[in-house]
Formats: sequence, structure tokens, C-alpha cells
Amino acid sequence: MGGMGSGGQNSRHRGTVEGWRRIDAAKMQKHGELAVGWFGRWTWTSDDGEENYIHLSGGHHSIRLSYRYRQNGGDWQDVSQTVHLDWSPRHFGGEQAYFLCPKCGSRRRYLVGAGARFLCQACHGLVHAASREGESDRVFRRMWKVKRKIGAELALGGLRGAKPKGMHRATHDRLMAELDGLERAALDDSYRMLMRLQARGGRRRWSRPDF
Ligand SMILES: [Zn+2]
Repeated sequence: MGGMGSGGQNSRHRGTVEGWRRIDAAKMQKHGELAVGWFGRWTWTSDDGEENYIHLSGGHHSIRLSYRYRQNGGDWQDVSQTVHLDWSPRHFGGEQAYFLCPKCGSRRRYLVGAGARFLCQACHGLVHAASREGESDRVFRRMWKVKRKIGAELALGGLRGAKPKGMHRATHDRLMAELDGLERAALDDSYRMLMRLQARGGRRRWSRPDF
């Protein structure tokens, strides 16, 4: 399954889009994985030795992703997600496939699996490290750092889970309170970014995330 994955085997870059599982509509199209009836499985082993997999069922209008997911050492949950596709004409003939983000409906070449679901990077609150500057960069990086400490999903408004074993209650309370402030700041920042994108027009259907 050459079209799937990008650095999913490597957790050193956790916290930026590059470090997470990513699916690429253009590569999947090129490798025939969007054909009706196509079925494949992508597997990798995490640093902690756990087996991970994603099953993919191809299709012209939508694809289906099935995988297991767990957070913070909790129970595995089976996740099955349908992702709709959008085809647009290419300049020099043929059609190009795009994913429609399951949350915001925007047309995307990449979707990122950074929590329980594959979403566009804006919906995950993830950004390429190089594209951020100054204050908002600092807010996002601090937010991800705190989230990794307490084992929370990196997505904005994502599940925080239970207190990790071995962490003092007072420390956990302090980090949770800090996270409240960081998430508010990050959400305001993401919302402004979405509004700027919307102002550029195009076939996007933005709505304010219901965190
Ligand atoms: Zn989205």
C-alpha cells in the first residue's frame, strides 16, 4: 500500500503533521487504491512494540478506513470511518481525487490520523512546524507538550483521558488547568485561520467546531 503512511513508524516527530499517520489522496489514486473493490491493509509496529493496522476499502465516491485505536494505554477501540471523495478535472486531462474532511468538509489532499479519526490538519489543530511563527507557534507547541505529558489526544478539544499512572494529582490538576487556557488560545487562533481561508473563497464549508 504505497500510498498510505508517512512517518507513522517513527514517533520522533510527534506533535507535527509529519509525525502522524497521514493518507494522501493523490498517491492512493496513483496506486489504484481508490478503485471500487480495492482492499488493502497497512501495518506497522510502534516503538512500544504494538501492532497497528489500517484496513482500506477503495471506492469512487468514498473509501472506508478500519483500524484500532487506543489512548493513553486504555482499551483498544475499533474505529470504522467513511471518507468521501471529490474528483476535480486536471489542467491536462483526467481527474484528481481529493478527500473531503469528515469534520469540516474541506477538500484536502491529505488527512491526518492524530486521534481517533482521520481529519484535515486544521481540524486536528495540527500545523506544519515551519508554517507557524511567534505567539501562536508557542501556544500550539506548549499545548501539544502538555497533552503528551497527560496522554491526551493532540486534537483541539480532543479527549484528555484519565490521569497517567505515577503522576501526582496536584501536577495533573495544574496541567489540566494550563491546558484549558492553551486550548482556548489555540482555538481562537485556529478560528481566525479558518476565517482567513474562508475569505479566500473556494468550495469550502466551514463551520465553527463545536468544542
Ligand atoms: Zn477538516
